[in-house]
Amino acid sequence: MQSSIEYKINEVFESIQGEGALTGVPSIFVRLQGCPVGCPWCDTKHTWEIKEDLKTSAEEVMAEQSESERWFGHSVDQLLTLFKQHGYTAKNVILTGGEPCMYDLRPMCDALEQYGYSVSVETSGTFEILVSPNTWVTLSPKIDMKGGLEVRQDAVERANEIKHPVAMEKHVTELEKLLEWVPKDAKPLIYLQPISQQKRATDLAVKTCIAKNWRLSLQTHKFIGIE
Ligand code: SF4
Repeated sequence: MQSSIEYKINEVFESIQGEGALTGVPSIFVRLQGCPVGCPWCDTKHTWEIKEDLKTSAEEVMAEQSESERWFGHSVDQLLTLFKQHGYTAKNVILTGGEPCMYDLRPMCDALEQYGYSVSVETSGTFEILVSPNTWVTLSPKIDMKGGLEVRQDAVERANEIKHPVAMEKHVTELEKLLEWVPKDAKPLIYLQPISQQKRATDLAVKTCIAKNWRLSLQTHKFIGIE
C-alpha cells in the first residue's frame, strides 16, 4: 500500500532531535518545502517559497551542504528508498518544514509506520493536521505572524505537545489563551522555548515554567553545533 502523492522536499538528514519532548531521540528529518506563515525569526526562510524553477533532483539536494531554496519531489516509496541508500538507522521520522501540514501527510505517516518507523510532525497549527492517529504532533503555535494565518482550534485539540516560542510576557498570555481550547481529557505537554536563546527570553521562560509547572525546551542541537 503506497501513495502516489509527491511531496516537495527541501532536505532529508539524520540527526538527534534537539528540542521538546523528543530531545535526544535519533531521528530522520524530512523538511518539506513551503510555508506562508512568515515568522520574523524563522531560521528556515529558504523553505518559504515553492519555486518551480528551483525543482531539482534528490541527488543534488542530498549532495548540497548549505541551506538552499532548491527542492525535489518524492513519493513515500522513493523516500523510503532514499533512507536505505543513505544507510539511515534512526527509527523516528520527524516531518518538519517549512509548514509540513500544508500537505496531506496521512499516506506518508501510514507508510512510514508500516515500515516500523514512529512519526512526529512539527507544525505552526495554521493548517488542518492530516496525519495518522499514532503520529506525535508537536504544535509550535505561531500567533499574529506576517502571513495573517490563525492558529486553529483543531490543531490545539490534536497536539501531543505544545512548544511555544517565547521572548516577552505577551507570548505567555497568548499561550494561556490558546490553552483554553485544550479538551478537558487531553494532557498535552506544555513547553516554553526561548526565541534565539536570548538571555531575557530564557530568564522569562525559566521563571514562567517554574511558576506554572510547564517544561523548558532548549534548542540543544544549536549548543553542540549539529543540524
Ligand atoms: S512556521 Fe516555521 S517555517 Fe514557517 S515561518 Fe514560522 S518558523 Fe519559519
